[in-house]
Amino acid sequence: MPDTINLLTENVANKIAAGEVVLRPSSVVKELLENSIDAGSQEIRLYVNDGGKSLIKVIDNGCGMSDIDARMCFERHATSKIRVEDDLLNIRTLGFRGEALPSVAAVSHVELKTRTIGEELGTLVSIEGSKLITHEPCQCQEGTSVTVRHLFFNLPARKNFLKSTNAEMRHVVDEFLRIALGHPSVFMGLYHNDRELYHIEPSNLRKRIVAVFGKNYNERLVPVDESTELLKITGFIGKPGHAKKTRGEQFFVVNGRFIRSPYMHHAVLNAYDDIIPQGQYPLYVLQFHVDSSRIDINVHPTKQEIKFEDEKVIYAILSAAVKKALSQFSVAPSIDFDLEQSIEQLSAISAPIPTEVHSGPGHTVDWSPISRGDKTITIQSDWPDKKEAEEETHEPSESVPYQLHRKYMLAPVKNGLLLIDQQAAHERILFDKFKFLMETNKAACQQLLFPQNMELSHNDFTIAQEIIDDINALGFDVKVFGMDSLIIHGVPADIEVGQPSELIDQLLDQFKDNNSNLKLEPRDNLALALAYRAGIKSGRKLSREEMQQLIDELFACTNFQKSPSGKTILVKFTNDDLETVFAKKS
Ligand code: ADP
Ligand code: MG
Repeated sequence: MPDTINLLTENVANKIAAGEVVLRPSSVVKELLENSIDAGSQEIRLYVNDGGKSLIKVIDNGCGMSDIDARMCFERHATSKIRVEDDLLNIRTLGFRGEALPSVAAVSHVELKTRTIGEELGTLVSIEGSKLITHEPCQCQEGTSVTVRHLFFNLPARKNFLKSTNAEMRHVVDEFLRIALGHPSVFMGLYHNDRELYHIEPSNLRKRIVAVFGKNYNERLVPVDESTELLKITGFIGKPGHAKKTRGEQFFVVNGRFIRSPYMHHAVLNAYDDIIPQGQYPLYVLQFHVDSSRIDINVHPTKQEIKFEDEKVIYAILSAAVKKALSQFSVAPSIDFDLEQSIEQLSAISAPIPTEVHSGPGHTVDWSPISRGDKTITIQSDWPDKKEAEEETHEPSESVPYQLHRKYMLAPVKNGLLLIDQQAAHERILFDKFKFLMETNKAACQQLLFPQNMELSHNDFTIAQEIIDDINALGFDVKVFGMDSLIIHGVPADIEVGQPSELIDQLLDQFKDNNSNLKLEPRDNLALALAYRAGIKSGRKLSREEMQQLIDELFACTNFQKSPSGKTILVKFTNDDLETVFAKKS
């Protein structure tokens, strides 16, 4: 048999390596920004066109490269960051493999201009698909600029996989913000299609978080500061009340490097344990300062995961640090044991036929309002079963609704008993109402005395921009107001609003959450998001009149059995059901 093994040429090897390192424009952005940080830059500007699909350019004022290095840096495994094997155990820079630039240059057209401090002339190197095109002296600023065009020009399949400009841009912005949060003392600018998206001045971490997420974040932050022999943890966590249903505000930065770590994430959630609902995520931007010999960065192709030598100990320290911060700033609310207990009892009544409807030790239900029956209720309109409904409206039952565990309404009706989930019921009522108002253009708007300016993250802004007409159809009066900000002139007239900007913020959060969990048209999604935000929640005490109104309005809805997000609104127990239960002898 002839020999069949070949040694790949450098170009082919680079193209293969690029497959691991360069997945999309944002991967290029990540590598270039990391190089600029490693070069000690104090100012970094990122220019992107069409989400990075047609242009990515990073200009820094870092140390620059010599003429020879400017050519060398495109060779595989050429790096200034490690020299000998032992250096691998002690990495202090973001890069170290010498793979990024050759990989990028293998799949695009790259132009590098660089000048070291004190040199009169700089160097220009251009490379297209690993092929050297130019290498000559040039006039340029101190520092380095790298321009990447025609990404994946020689990998058509990968090019076809790229998403819309908006989607790619979201990834680019994510990478940009990760670097910005990891290096607060560096000026960072981002420009998309010649529009300035971010202009982030050098500052401390708190100000940087505010610059990234918006002014209203300042008061949400709780500082964390914990020093142990093993590591130092500094940074900020969010107050529990502002936890969100979507992720995107969780950052671990280990020695300046953004990393993902489900394990450490769990440690933080663990500290928030009882004070935020399941499925919500608190903000955190936590910096770990740890001896670089105690971590291994070389475990992931794009270095987004690392291995801690003392993982379990760090978990414990982190969790304790977060708990301490929460309690020091006394943001952990006193826990409402009554409510807790009520929720625990839930299982007893969610069964189709209630075998026992009392609420356990130390918590007796007062049944008297029902039997006293001092007010008549009428269940109007459709009742789950048409025939029974007719009977109901003919002869209204003489009793009042009763609230159970601040969560359910117990409504005796002539031929049985209804158990209605107050939150799901109100969600249905409001959803139908908002949809009607949107469709008929009848939503009333209450103008604010002082229009409110609101800054958004770039991603939220992009979403808001796409659905702004629908937002206004709900009764808002909101307009785009320059870069990543909105101006709120008015809010829907008949809902409790509080802070208008908070409402919009929550609305967008809910909208994103619905988008990922339910398949809805944007309008339905928005109507649902507002219904959820404005609706009566479990845990709220309702007066008899409020319950009466809720029940009446619920039965005026076409679909009163299921909430728009798919939850059961009511369970019915007929007199026959009850007879059967109590007829059983045990
Ligand atoms: P790595 O970052 O792993 O060393 P890269 O391929 O990203 O590998 O870069 C190769 C080398 O090029 C770096 O080690 C560094 O010496 C040099 N370099 C890259 N970008 C810059 C920059 N913006 N400023 C100065 N030097 C740079
Ligand atoms: Mg690098």
